[in-house]
Amino acid sequence: MEKATHEEYSFFQGVERNFDKAAKYTRFESGILEQIKACNSVYRMKFPVRIGDNIEVIEAYRVQHSHHKLPCKGGIRYSMDVNQDEVMALAALMTYKCAIVNVPFGGAKGGIKINPKKYSPFELEKITRRYASELVKKNFIGPGIDVPAPDYGTGAREMSWIVDTYASLKPGEVDALACITGKPVTQGGVRGRTEATGLGVYYGIREVCNTAEDMKKLGLEKGIEGKKVIVQGLGNVGYHAAKFFFDNGAIIVGLAEHEGGIYNEKGLDIYKVVEHRKATGHLHDYPGATNIKNSAETLEQPCDILIPAALENVINGDNAARIQAKIIGEGANGPLTPEADEILIKKGVIVVPDMYLNAGGVTVSYFEWLKNLSHVRFGRMDKRFSENQNDSILKSVEGLTGKRVSDIERSQILHGPDEVDLVYSGLEDTMIGSYHEIREALMRLDGKVDMRTAAFTVAIDKVGVSYEELGIFP
Ligand code: NAD
Repeated sequence: MEKATHEEYSFFQGVERNFDKAAKYTRFESGILEQIKACNSVYRMKFPVRIGDNIEVIEAYRVQHSHHKLPCKGGIRYSMDVNQDEVMALAALMTYKCAIVNVPFGGAKGGIKINPKKYSPFELEKITRRYASELVKKNFIGPGIDVPAPDYGTGAREMSWIVDTYASLKPGEVDALACITGKPVTQGGVRGRTEATGLGVYYGIREVCNTAEDMKKLGLEKGIEGKKVIVQGLGNVGYHAAKFFFDNGAIIVGLAEHEGGIYNEKGLDIYKVVEHRKATGHLHDYPGATNIKNSAETLEQPCDILIPAALENVINGDNAARIQAKIIGEGANGPLTPEADEILIKKGVIVVPDMYLNAGGVTVSYFEWLKNLSHVRFGRMDKRFSENQNDSILKSVEGLTGKRVSDIERSQILHGPDEVDLVYSGLEDTMIGSYHEIREALMRLDGKVDMRTAAFTVAIDKVGVSYEELGIFP
């Protein structure tokens, strides 16, 4: 991952700097602000795992940034770039993210410093289970304590190894499934979690594009249809975001992965590109597209919307001035350095911040946690009831008017909500509502600040009130 060559701030310092920029617009005394900013608990561990004939000493972390609400919540990342500063920064962002989308959790994050591609599934399972048992030993995981989730380099498979390890070390704990989210549906996961972050990115950007006044300032038409989009990273977040943009009429003009990028101003079919990459092992040589050798240069191509959805610091003091997008949606956590932020704000670019835009994952994780605690699938109690009620209303209307709706209309009207319908609806409502909270803060601050600073003020206000109401022990 390319880092800024003249980077002044570490990732965590960058988050603190953004916090400080916003804190001066809030009403809290300095002690409360210091407490909000601080990482409450940092657990750094090393443990041995036998890999083939050797023993490897694995370095890993779990950071709980804030306990103002419990449990703490945040993903687990597998990457060679994992370090304490990065995990602290990501944990802090989780606190602000949860506050912004009104998810009642404190922020946390975990990381294991490994390249997952280097290990077999069996070896990854050993590392993951050992990490989980270290968390159990130190009371750093549990439905009411700290609830991890997937992040860069992890997915449903790793989550099921963790829940299984936790449950076997806590026999009889009736709520054990709620110790982690992002699980496969067969292991207590919720439908819609896999695509939730990418879908949230789409809902958030759609809301930005639906604000006619803001689009006019950028010289763009209202609405998502026809907007030219570049996405970096075709993993969980990037792939699903690209898919929802594509399905809803946006034009995907550029895609970047670690091996290189492709660009076609007429548009790329995301499904076919993914098939092509699977078959050839590369994005390059996709029919009709131009190859971009240096993947990072894909971000600098012409487009309306740029979605960095890989890792942090990819847009920095070195390349920010060359970015042509008018809207940047932070799918990844921390893809812009503070230097990049300053350059882009001066250029009039709307930067939609990570702690709002990629909060779809934690929002749906919250739904999964609620499902696990209630031990019932969403929709199980009311789906049939809604369908029966819709049926009798429709029959009455048809009886009164003497007209009949078509079979397609009938099935649409009768349809009672399935779990995935409820999850999508809760996510959509959250992304729309939270965007307007941030926009109202922007308006209150008279447009003097950028959207990231406005989002921080919203988060600080909520966490600050929590600390005030909790009271501080003497
Ligand atoms: P992932 O591992 O599923 O996908 C990341 C993708 O980025 C991979 O396909 C990888 O090959 C690609 N990539 C790596 N280096 C690249 C480079 N230099 N250029 C282009 N592509 C590159 O990870 P993810 O879960 O999609 O997470 C991506 C980002 O989104 C991270 O910053 C993560 O913290 C953030 N995020 C993830 C979630 C979630 O629910 N998974 C939620 C919120 C935020």
